[in-house]
Amino acid sequence: MKHYTHVYLANKAVEFLWDSVDNLSYRSGSLARSSVRRRVKGGAADLQRILRSHMDRIEEASWAPDDILYDMKTFHIYKLMMANEFTDYRDFVAEEFKVGGKTYYKVNGGGGLPYKVDHLARLLADMVKLRAYNDIFTMEHICYLFFLLSHYIADANVPMHTDVRDDKPSRKKPQNGNYYSTKWHGKIEKLWEKGSTPIALRENIIPSERKGCNSVDTNMTPFLKFYLKPNVKDIHTTYVKPNQLIKYMQTVCAHSKDRSVILFPVSNPDNFSEAKLEGMSHDIFADAIGSIISVWLAIWDHAFADD
Ligand SMILES: [Zn+2]
Repeated sequence: MKHYTHVYLANKAVEFLWDSVDNLSYRSGSLARSSVRRRVKGGAADLQRILRSHMDRIEEASWAPDDILYDMKTFHIYKLMMANEFTDYRDFVAEEFKVGGKTYYKVNGGGGLPYKVDHLARLLADMVKLRAYNDIFTMEHICYLFFLLSHYIADANVPMHTDVRDDKPSRKKPQNGNYYSTKWHGKIEKLWEKGSTPIALRENIIPSERKGCNSVDTNMTPFLKFYLKPNVKDIHTTYVKPNQLIKYMQTVCAHSKDRSVILFPVSNPDNFSEAKLEGMSHDIFADAIGSIISVWLAIWDHAFADD
């Protein structure tokens, strides 16, 4: 995803943080017990208030991984393949896991996005504990890292970030199957950027004087709008225990991979249509917002619990 898309999603995650806890479900999909939702909602109220006093940091922090850290090839991706995509996939498997009875294979050298999220989440929980102990970190440090973390979680929701078929074919990757053209990756992210920027400008999420910002709605814009009352039901939040964060992020990546297979069919992956993308973009953005909130809540919950 591009700059303002990340800024937009992090802002929406703060906006929906408290209200979306009403939808909190377990990883199984069933609604969390009301006592759990009540407890998590109390923490969400505090976290939302604290993040809100550091919103000016979002623009830099949510973009820092692409702009300053440059760890795109290792931690912004988790490249998956399915058994029916390449006849030689077995020779290139680094990890495998199941979601909903389906087996997903992570390709060798295909990044470690879920591990980065887990690492940053643990670091954040430790920082919160250390702050309470000796005041060594400021809330500004902590909020900055919350926003920075949102970048990786948003990227996990991008279908191309979770599909090996988005890569350039090479001898290090499976060969007996079809890749899709790498041009789609940039094109799709641009459609989202141009579609979300006018909303971000109108809602003062980004300053209006920015040069090169698109202020005119595109065909994509209506799918990327999120207003609290009508859209809170679209934001699925999940109750994730800290030791389940890697599994949770693998599940997020697996859903993205499923979407990639719809966008770029296995038999003819270059058969891409903008209409199909528009149809799923609202869900992709809703899931990005929901998964950012879910990880934030897991950290906040954990920071006040003993391991
Ligand atoms: Zn990125």
